[in-house]
Amino acid sequence: MAIRYISTRGNAPDLNFEEVLLAGLAADGGLYVPDKLPTFSEAKIRSFRGMSYPELAFNILEPFVEGSIASEDLRAIIDDTYGQFRHPAVAPLVQIGDNQWVLELFHGPTLAFKDFALQLLGRLLDHVLQRRQQKVVIMGATSGDTGSAAIEGCKRCNNIDIFILYPHGRVSDVQRRQMTTVAGDTIHNLAIEGNFDDCQAMVKASFVAEPFLPDGRQLVAVNSINWARIMAQIVYYFYAALCLGAPDRAINFSVPTGNFGDIFAGYLARCMGLPIDQLVIATNRNDVLHRLLTSGEYARQQLEQSLSPSMDITVSSNFERLMFDLYDRDASAIDRLMNEFKEGSIQLSDSAMAKARALFSSQCVSDDETAEEIAGIWARCGYLLDPHSAIGTRAARDCRREASQPMVTLATAHPAKFPDAVEKSGVNTSPVLPAHLADLFEREERFTVLSNDLTKVQQHMASHLKA
Ligand SMILES: *Cc1c(COP(=O)(O)O)cnc(C)c1O
Repeated sequence: MAIRYISTRGNAPDLNFEEVLLAGLAADGGLYVPDKLPTFSEAKIRSFRGMSYPELAFNILEPFVEGSIASEDLRAIIDDTYGQFRHPAVAPLVQIGDNQWVLELFHGPTLAFKDFALQLLGRLLDHVLQRRQQKVVIMGATSGDTGSAAIEGCKRCNNIDIFILYPHGRVSDVQRRQMTTVAGDTIHNLAIEGNFDDCQAMVKASFVAEPFLPDGRQLVAVNSINWARIMAQIVYYFYAALCLGAPDRAINFSVPTGNFGDIFAGYLARCMGLPIDQLVIATNRNDVLHRLLTSGEYARQQLEQSLSPSMDITVSSNFERLMFDLYDRDASAIDRLMNEFKEGSIQLSDSAMAKARALFSSQCVSDDETAEEIAGIWARCGYLLDPHSAIGTRAARDCRREASQPMVTLATAHPAKFPDAVEKSGVNTSPVLPAHLADLFEREERFTVLSNDLTKVQQHMASHLKA
């Protein structure tokens, strides 16, 4: 039977893949998760050895889309998606120490791992919308990487208008230009006079409020509450582990973590049969998850600016998906806890915490330690890390339990995206943007500045649709 997608809070209709692709939050405020996971035997995983990235992706993703996307269409979409990446291995491994590796996830168009999911999401949406003869509107908030990855993923689709809200004057020049220099009538960059939380709040409000778009056009989410994004990220855990000897050998991963989407995909890979021993949650000083694993209390805190801005968050939305499993899929318990969490903090049960600690290790890495790590790896290996990935390698070393097993850190961004952090580390080199972005600073920018006012933003959106 095809997989159905159910809400973590138990009070929303369950959906098929096509519907979950077009959905945002579930109607009850929960997040969608598969009702069951495909699992692969050791022999099956062994049969994946030596497969190209697209071929592996097809094998892992097919069960998730069954009934919604025909196999031959899925194959074509995946080939097209990962054929555009700049490295023939798509997600190459680089060795930085004894049994220590970095998985480079920045060879997509916008130089961050978010391309793995959003390049696929854009093509899946295009396919489904074409068939349904439907037009939709994407609305997303970004503090940097999500916006450009979403724009690059959806720019070819004639059935999607995409509106990206970002805090005016508060994203880096590279990140802003990666969004504002993409040409196309359906791409709308909105610079909001406010901070990231203001942008995020307007997006959330727009998803739950009265419809404000003409012709009943549906809003689609591109942040990691969208299930399809999580799904796409499962593949590279398998890819890396197979390269390093799985399933005949256990593998460990360290994941620079913000919203908990990327590492949750690693947890799913483990549930699907991949022998992952340790999953390390690596955070910057916005350490809500590290504090949770240490104390059992999940507590919102003040946002702090750090050297790794893509991990500057106050809560990790996708953690709710893990909580659902920690509480044995008891949706009413999650509904109760998340309502209580509106006050700012909740205490997890002892049994939930015991499970969480068995699955995850965690480490919080300061800005000084991040800069030190960039400099240290450069000095020892001649390898330049971006600040997010540096948090990962630092936590990997500190949390590592078993030196005989490979430890893989996910390198989530290219260092040229964050030249300031690289400079702060004092290394005697500066990262160079890849050729396709070499003229980024000469390209023409297009964006509209709007005040931090929900009505104005919605009016602007309703009157600027082009798709
Ligand atoms: C988005 C992002 C992260 C955090 O990923 P989550 O899935 O939100 O945990 C880490 N590093 C970079 C470079 C990112 O863009």
